[in-house]
Amino acid sequence: MTSPPGPRAPTPSAEGTSAAQAVAWLHTARFLTTAPRLEHLPELAVPEIAFVGRSNAGKSTCINTLTQQKRLAFASKTPGRTQAINLFALGKQGLTDAVLADLPGYGYAAVPKQDKLRWQQVMANYLVTRPSLAGVVMMVDPRHGLTELDEILLEVIRPRVEAGLKFLVLLTKADKLNRSEANKALSIARLQTAGGEVKLFSALKKQGVEEASLLLWHWAHPQTQTGTQTGAETETP
Ligand code: GDP
Repeated sequence: MTSPPGPRAPTPSAEGTSAAQAVAWLHTARFLTTAPRLEHLPELAVPEIAFVGRSNAGKSTCINTLTQQKRLAFASKTPGRTQAINLFALGKQGLTDAVLADLPGYGYAAVPKQDKLRWQQVMANYLVTRPSLAGVVMMVDPRHGLTELDEILLEVIRPRVEAGLKFLVLLTKADKLNRSEANKALSIARLQTAGGEVKLFSALKKQGVEEASLLLWHWAHPQTQTGTQTGAETETP
């Protein structure tokens, strides 16, 4: 008698990766290094995905939720605190196959203007020149919408997006919106990003975690891309 088949492994998608595998991949995140200036960033041979957003948009919470780690990223709310780019390595068995870059939040009202301007310049330089940059995730609080600084940043990266850089807006704290507010926020953000990819995300409700994880996985493994970024449960023959 043959034994019955055990529980099925997550169904691989046509690209070979299920949402569960993408979530597990993000869980491997570990601190790599911190760089107070661009010249301190290590040269990388793996794709890098940057997380950007206005201060208080929910970026640290989002990174910690995606990586299922309590304090990998932490909010730096203290004005004047040294701002730095933190890198986290991803990949099974210690083999790094991608890196997440956490960029300091911008727009914090209490930061002196001079520091704000300096930081905006560092960030623009990073986004324009970083060779390993493969994708950018922008966290936006949908109750405020895209701010002027978000829009400036969009302009900065537009040429790179046109040249293939991946880009996603995550509307954070989605648990605070009802359905019609959420739909409105999605429509407005899509207009503001000229049809760019926009998704709802809630750390509290774990909404959007699988979708975002799968998208990031595909960004980091473009050889697996077949055009479907979600709906990973497609059966393989
Ligand atoms: P950062 O400055 O962009 O890193 O923002 P934080 O991650 O520190 O989040 C800012 C505030 O928003 C904190 O009070 C968080 O608890 C809250 N927050 C973040 N994500 C969520 C969420 O998904 N739902 C709700 N309700 N609050 C959130």
